[in-house]
This record gives sequence, C-alpha cells and structure tokens, in this order.
Amino acid sequence: MEVTMIRKICNKCGKSFMARHGNARYCSNANCAYEALKERSRNEYQSKSLKADMYWKNEAVLREFYNRYGNNYELDPADLDTGGFDSNLYSAEKDMDGYKVFYMNKFGFYFLNNKKIKIIKL
Ligand SMILES: [Zn+2]
Repeated sequence: MEVTMIRKICNKCGKSFMARHGNARYCSNANCAYEALKERSRNEYQSKSLKADMYWKNEAVLREFYNRYGNNYELDPADLDTGGFDSNLYSAEKDMDGYKVFYMNKFGFYFLNNKKIKIIKL
C-alpha cells in the first residue's frame, strides 16, 4: 500500500519535511522532537483539571506504546510526541542505573543516551 506523505514545517527548527501523518510536528532530525519533548512548558496547563486530564492521557500513551512494543523497545521521541505525550507531566522522578526515570501511575519512561526513549511498567 502506498504511504501518503505530507509536506510540513518543523515546529522546532523551521525546516520543511515530509511526514507520514498529518499530526507530525517535527522533522526527522533526532534533536527536534527530543528537545521539544523535554522543553515543553508546564505553563501550558492553567487549570488543575486540565493538568490532571493530561496526566492520565500521558499514562494512557505510555501504556499503549508499552503494550505495543514491550519494555525493550527504543522509542523515537517523535512517535511519543505524535501520540500527544507531554514529558513534563509525571508524578515522581527516580534514579535507575544512572538514568532519571519519570513515573506516572503504572508506567515510567526515561531518555537513553542515544535520545531514544524506553518505557517501563511498574
Ligand atoms: Zn526540525
């Protein structure tokens, strides 16, 4: 089956790129989605209820990717971003084997040195 590509402008570096889906926001440069995911401002969430909704949405995104790929898969930050994930919403932060792991309800995630992401189930 032919994949339709859409030309888009990267939200991070401003370069145009070809995307597989309409809601992709960053080009294929590994830094763009990675930096954007790390930097996104907490101030986007004014109300507590919206913040809580986003937290549970985050957890659902982690669960979905975990169920699809398991705990050994190195996820691309762009994929997580496309799922609507926000790395600034987590409930706890702990060190594990030199990595800073961000925890949500039943799932956690951490950034690998190669800028990929791993998801763990608690
Ligand atoms: Zn870019």
